[in-house]
Amino acid sequence: MFNIKNTDPSTQARTGELKTAHGTAKTPFFMPVATKLTIKHVTPMELEQMGGQAVITNAYVTYLKPGMELIKEVGGVHRLMNFNRTIFSDSGGFQMLSESFLKEVSDKGVSFHDPFANRAHFLKPEDVIRIEREMGSDVAMCLDHVPAVKSKEEDIAEAVRRTHVWAERCKKYHDAHDSKNIYGKRQLLFGIAQGGLSKELREKSAKAIDALDFDGLAIGGLCIGESKEEMFKAAKWQLPHLSKEKPRYLMGVGSPEDIIEAVSLGVDCFDSIYPTQNARHCHVFTRKGTIKLDRGRYSKDMSPLDPDCDCYVCKNFSRAYLHHLSRSFEWTHHRYLSYHNVYWVVKFLERIRAAIDKGEFEEFRKEFNERYVKRKISAKR
Ligand SMILES: [Zn+2]
Repeated sequence: MFNIKNTDPSTQARTGELKTAHGTAKTPFFMPVATKLTIKHVTPMELEQMGGQAVITNAYVTYLKPGMELIKEVGGVHRLMNFNRTIFSDSGGFQMLSESFLKEVSDKGVSFHDPFANRAHFLKPEDVIRIEREMGSDVAMCLDHVPAVKSKEEDIAEAVRRTHVWAERCKKYHDAHDSKNIYGKRQLLFGIAQGGLSKELREKSAKAIDALDFDGLAIGGLCIGESKEEMFKAAKWQLPHLSKEKPRYLMGVGSPEDIIEAVSLGVDCFDSIYPTQNARHCHVFTRKGTIKLDRGRYSKDMSPLDPDCDCYVCKNFSRAYLHHLSRSFEWTHHRYLSYHNVYWVVKFLERIRAAIDKGEFEEFRKEFNERYVKRKISAKR
């Protein structure tokens, strides 16, 4: 299911292959987020053509809208979205537990208000796995209790304890269905370790989740408002306790500078709204760092967004034209900039994999860090 191909001699970076029911994803890889069963402004066909290997959907959001009846009738999310590569499904624990919708959380499960209708729902961990099986995703994520990052230590400890109780129940339910989705295809199940910004809880959670023998291991509860330093500290506390021979997924990370740093620590999978959300705010990735395209200085700039990028947008349009669209509130600029940013990150991961395979990852990382101007912002999901 997961094979490690090459390991970098001077860091923990590695390349590998994650085999799912919809093909083989070369690791490390980045997944655009398709919470509402679409990547914002990029089509599934475009993602496949640019070399994107996977997307991540959301069980909680899909359950609410369009609902499981339609998903089952159509034959799963691959058919509904017309995306034929690997689809992950996040449980949606993070969204379910957001304060505005939450009614109550206990070991039994989560009750929450329906944001689209005047009614309440209650989901057990087993229900979430049932929904993910009905979605037909290739990789399901366990239901986890994500505490607010600055919660009190005792609240984080309680969320960690509950996450472990739920993880065991998710695993048991999944095993009882032969690790297959309802369409008879193999479905992998990843566990999620939590622990806020506590070293002790992060280590404890990583060990407990690792011991449950999931197909893959995720680091959760980060990129939700803490600083980048805190985020990396938490990841570093957990990675040594997450089996090296399994795929390791750092949830919510998607800026180029964070991806390359996490790859050096041995992370294999990433997902984030970062590329598309930034595109909608006119933040564009380039070889030298992010530029803010709606600034006046680009109004007469006839160069492409990134002279080193060979995407459709960079081959056909100037910064000046895209600047004009953004200033004219022509929403095509959302589409063009999102396409470029997703393409850029997909190719960035391709270059990272090639550098690891050639034994040149350290030089690649050094060169990247020297020229790429980082944005001074907190980690944000
Ligand atoms: Zn481009």
